[in-house]
Amino acid sequence: MAESLKPDICVIGAGSGGLSVAAAAAAFGVSVVLIEKGRMGGDCLNYGCVPSKALIAAAKRASVCAISGAFGVNSQPKIDFDRTYHHIREVIAAVAPNDSAQRFAGLGVRVVAGVARFTDPATVLVDGDMVVQARRFVIATGSSPCIPSISGLADTPHLTNETIFDLCELPRHLVVIGGGAIGLELGQAFHRLGARVTIVETARPLAHEDAECAQIIIDALLREGVEIRTGASVQSVRQTGGGVELAVKCGDGEERIAGSHLLVAAGRSPNVEGFCLEKAGIEFTRAGILVDGSLRTTNRRVYAIGDAAAGGMMFTHVANYHAGLVVRHALFRLPVQATYDAIPRVTFTDPELAQVGMTDDRAKDQGYRIRVMRWPYCENDRAQAERMTDGHIKVVTNGHGRVLGAAIVGAHAGELIAPWALAISQGLNIRAVAETVFPYPTFAEINKRAAMMFFAPAAASQTVRRIVRWLRRG
Ligand SMILES: Cc1cc2nc3c(=O)[nH]c(=O)nc-3n(C[C@H](O)[C@H](O)[C@H](O)COP(=O)(O)OP(=O)(O)OC[C@H]3O[C@@H](n4cnc5c(N)ncnc54)[C@H](O)[C@@H]3O)c2cc1C
Repeated sequence: MAESLKPDICVIGAGSGGLSVAAAAAAFGVSVVLIEKGRMGGDCLNYGCVPSKALIAAAKRASVCAISGAFGVNSQPKIDFDRTYHHIREVIAAVAPNDSAQRFAGLGVRVVAGVARFTDPATVLVDGDMVVQARRFVIATGSSPCIPSISGLADTPHLTNETIFDLCELPRHLVVIGGGAIGLELGQAFHRLGARVTIVETARPLAHEDAECAQIIIDALLREGVEIRTGASVQSVRQTGGGVELAVKCGDGEERIAGSHLLVAAGRSPNVEGFCLEKAGIEFTRAGILVDGSLRTTNRRVYAIGDAAAGGMMFTHVANYHAGLVVRHALFRLPVQATYDAIPRVTFTDPELAQVGMTDDRAKDQGYRIRVMRWPYCENDRAQAERMTDGHIKVVTNGHGRVLGAAIVGAHAGELIAPWALAISQGLNIRAVAETVFPYPTFAEINKRAAMMFFAPAAASQTVRRIVRWLRRG
């Protein structure tokens, strides 16, 4: 007979979002069942953030060797890709205990391995041998790689983020379909490790990002030797003796691109099929499960978070943010409202691209009278010392200095964006950053220099100059 459980909360999916809900709820003494059909840790640990950043870290070492001659340090990188493969496995293994079934069992969570399916609005069946009737359910089923409907693709061996980190030999020529963050990050990393890489993108790469910043990334990749076809649509794909061949339409012409391996990085689809959401009265579209501001679905007993929820952003920190909101709403009945104005996002290419809040174009579209402050990396002493002078910061405020958005393209941009996320989330004026003392010499000083630019017109005004002259006389 099927085992029956009646916890306070049942979480479906043990990735970034699901684990956060389970850990927090258990910490408050709430009974939690956590159901996972695959590997604990979900995409982020196994097929996403962690392995990709481990690969990028290895690639960075290779590129540092290649450019270190300018520092008077001469060395040639010698890539042992089998070691790189093991490095990635070791990083996953080092992080895995935090997400493990053992750790969660220790926190008091009942971890169940299996596929969860709704059988009615208040019941989930796991693999046909366990019934869970919870007071609240949290769907955190994540997303999967989109596989575009390209002629021949289904019959041609191809990699996705779920398989590429299993490669223990470096591809000779990696062809990447998709010039979004994942395609560019992985494309650059494999190229730095010695593969020839061709990225094929229908629109422009990083189409959703600030165009000026995105171009700096594209130029950097092109300079390194990554081949990028923009405005190019893949018509068909076929397997060849040496690997794959793509027929690609660029403008009026057609090109054939032959590679040894094909990576499909053409976006992500929320996981909404295969667990009978209809039986629970939970509405969804291809964009994900429909949720309100408190992340409740059309079934008031059920929440959806992370990549599976429609309208959010597909990032680990967003899944964690959602988890916090659900815990507050479901456990403490506090009013919550998911907002994305202060959520930063980072593309981990080299240079990195980090953004938070509005771009200048969006702020103008929304009717703001804006000010845009910039500061280039080449005016930063640390950037000069490190020979990392590519890029700039761009901060957008309203006329009074309230921070609306920031974009940083350059070294360590992902680290440098944090004060701007704080400024936007707390409604701070740019004066707060301008008045903060930053340590010298650090890349972080670009934040202060950009903030000080807000006051530059005032400093240049004739009235202010007259006052200063008058004070100096006195
Ligand atoms: C290559 C790559 C790089 C990335 N890099 C970054 C990055 O640098 N920074 C960042 O913030 N984000 C990054 N992301 C995105 C990040 O991985 C996701 O946003 C995050 O993992 C979403 O968390 P989640 O909890 O919604 O889903 P997931 O972490 O995917 O977890 C969902 C879990 O649900 C399970 N599941 C699904 N259906 C069922 C079912 N019916 N029953 C039981 N279990 C089920 C799945 O097996 C899975 O384990 C990256 C993604 C990729 C692909």
